Amino acid sequence: MIDQSELLFQRAAAVTPGGVNSPVRAFRAVGGTPRFMVRGTGPYLYDADGVEYVDLVGGWGPAIVGHGHPEVVAAIQQAAVEGTTFGTPTPGEVDLAEEIIARVAPVERMRFVSSGTEATMSAIRLARGYTGKSKIIKFAGCYHGHVDSLLAAAGSGVTTLGLPDSPGVTPGQSADTIVLPYNDLGAVADVMASDSDIAAVITEAAAANMGVVPPDKGFNDGLSQLCERHGAVFISDEVMTGFRVSAAGWYGYEGVAADLFTYGKVMGGGVPAAGFGGRADIMSQLAPEGPVYQAGTLSGNPLAMAAGLTTLQLCSPEVYQALDTTAHTVGQLATEALTEAGVPHQLQRAGSLFSVFFREGPVTDYDAAQQQNTRQYAAFFHSMLDDGIYLPPSAFEAWFVSAAHDDLALDRIAAALPRAARAAATVD
Ligand SMILES: *Cc1c(COP(=O)(O)O)cnc(C)c1O
Repeated sequence: MIDQSELLFQRAAAVTPGGVNSPVRAFRAVGGTPRFMVRGTGPYLYDADGVEYVDLVGGWGPAIVGHGHPEVVAAIQQAAVEGTTFGTPTPGEVDLAEEIIARVAPVERMRFVSSGTEATMSAIRLARGYTGKSKIIKFAGCYHGHVDSLLAAAGSGVTTLGLPDSPGVTPGQSADTIVLPYNDLGAVADVMASDSDIAAVITEAAAANMGVVPPDKGFNDGLSQLCERHGAVFISDEVMTGFRVSAAGWYGYEGVAADLFTYGKVMGGGVPAAGFGGRADIMSQLAPEGPVYQAGTLSGNPLAMAAGLTTLQLCSPEVYQALDTTAHTVGQLATEALTEAGVPHQLQRAGSLFSVFFREGPVTDYDAAQQQNTRQYAAFFHSMLDDGIYLPPSAFEAWFVSAAHDDLALDRIAAALPRAARAAATVD
């Protein structure tokens, strides 16, 4: 029964384009009516009709310790009582910056913003200001938020909706963006050898917005070395991987030191917060210490800092161990069910992030990621949804587990998978 969601969706469509405030939420890629959620607790979500779902989206990452964790809620409540915003520096910003700097050795200075988009936009501006160069290299299928210059061949909703590069981005704004295939170090080397105007190379630390496509061994390290050799800034976008795949994000996994890192999602604990940080000599170019302007009315918001710091503090080694185990289990269960039903597929992982491509063979770049059977995913998705499992409403998104996914939640996922796999098998 989805009466309430349907009514809400009709009302929403009358007041906001497509009825949503972020495109993938509209279910266009899978069809049907998006569920309007009213409550979340632990691994569960509840929609406006009172239906319970095991959640494998986790707010696209922030719900790493589960929804409504009592300590996170208490931290937000206490911060709210003390005042929601002051437009002054606050102690929480210092606490959270110290926490991140203590975790990620190459991050010597942090600056907070309110969304991952702002973080990558600001990092790009800073890289250009620092180097005095104009161009940036990004990779096809990598999503860095809806920054004008970074929308070219972006993943996430841009891929889900099959959009070309967005209208409204002027040729001028995209002229300085060079898009290269992910995992193709040779292509980067060639461009950098022939073009001395590269300010930055930006990459997802592990690509997870075209489905999960981990970097080939040596790819990130190679980018770092090329940037150093050619005087460009290496920006590792850890908005999704940061503090999710380990206490120090993908950096903690692979140990490649970027010049700048961008963060979001987990570090806000479910309240809008993001940030960028890195080498002190680069970060010191930011106003008011340096000339590169960057600002924000709600940057370092006390509610967000409290939620983010508490979330990070809750992420103990045991939590990361639990995430790895749960992610492994869910991935295995999915692949077993699909194999049993005879559905060609490919499970890919980057730490505790994973996704299933509805095609065979390793997927190492955007071209390969796009060549999958999204109709089969839609059938799979809807069968799972009917059985109370909330998957990402797109084949091009990662699946997110939380430390709150217990045996009961896993049993429900396991019970729903065989029927979903059979539903996928009936679609060509
Ligand atoms: C989600 C995401 C962003 C954008 O963050 P928003 O908070 O949605 O603006 C940027 N980069 C990566 C890698 C992301 O996953």
